[in-house]
Amino acid sequence: MNDRYVGQRRALLGTMQERGIRDLNVLRAFDTVHRHEFIPEAVRHRSYEDAPVPIGFGQTASQPSLQALYMQVLELKPSDRVLEIGTGCGFQTAVLAQLADRVYSVERIRELGVRAREKLDALRMSNVAILVGDGTIGWSRYAPYDAILVAAGGPEIPRPLLEQMADGGRMLIPVGGRDMQQLVLVTRRGDDYEQRPVTDCTFVPLLGRFGWSTEAPPGQR
Ligand code: SAH
Repeated sequence: MNDRYVGQRRALLGTMQERGIRDLNVLRAFDTVHRHEFIPEAVRHRSYEDAPVPIGFGQTASQPSLQALYMQVLELKPSDRVLEIGTGCGFQTAVLAQLADRVYSVERIRELGVRAREKLDALRMSNVAILVGDGTIGWSRYAPYDAILVAAGGPEIPRPLLEQMADGGRMLIPVGGRDMQQLVLVTRRGDDYEQRPVTDCTFVPLLGRFGWSTEAPPGQR
């Protein structure tokens, strides 16, 4: 395929390394999957900036180095079963599909879920399942998960997600206010859930039963 973005992609990989991404499997997966194939045409020229990019419906594709940090901190293994909350444009989903055995991804906005499915089908990524629905209740059908990545920020950690972690499983989730959160690493050992802050971050709101209310906050109606 004609790949006029190869230079920009290599530059992005360099930026990601400068920003602390060392895991070679993660870097290789970000080289293999082409972000511009997932980013809407109007902003496609920004696909290889290390920045969030708008994907419609008021949502953004997350910053690549932050997505890579998630994968590096979670130490994904080729045998892992992974749950992703917030499919968005599907780029991170596709990267995860390179690093794990199976990826289950939940998106609440139907159009985004459908579009991501089409892109992943076109790339013949058959180890990914997408569900349109409320990811704050997880996806119990395929639980337990070795790793859970939440790509939107909530006021607290949804209980169903804790319950759907495998023993020894890891989860990364932004927790805090609507405008700023702390990325928290949760590691499950039996009935113990060890929590460790990783970094400050800013994500779009996690909306749903165990997240923020889907009603607009006062003043935004
Ligand atoms: N990884 C995606 C991130 C998209 S932004 C990407 O890089 O494209 C976060 C996404 O989470 C948005 O698409 C938003 O619609 C979705 N989201 C928010 N709350 C959700 C919920 N309760 N369940 C599933 N998806 C949710």
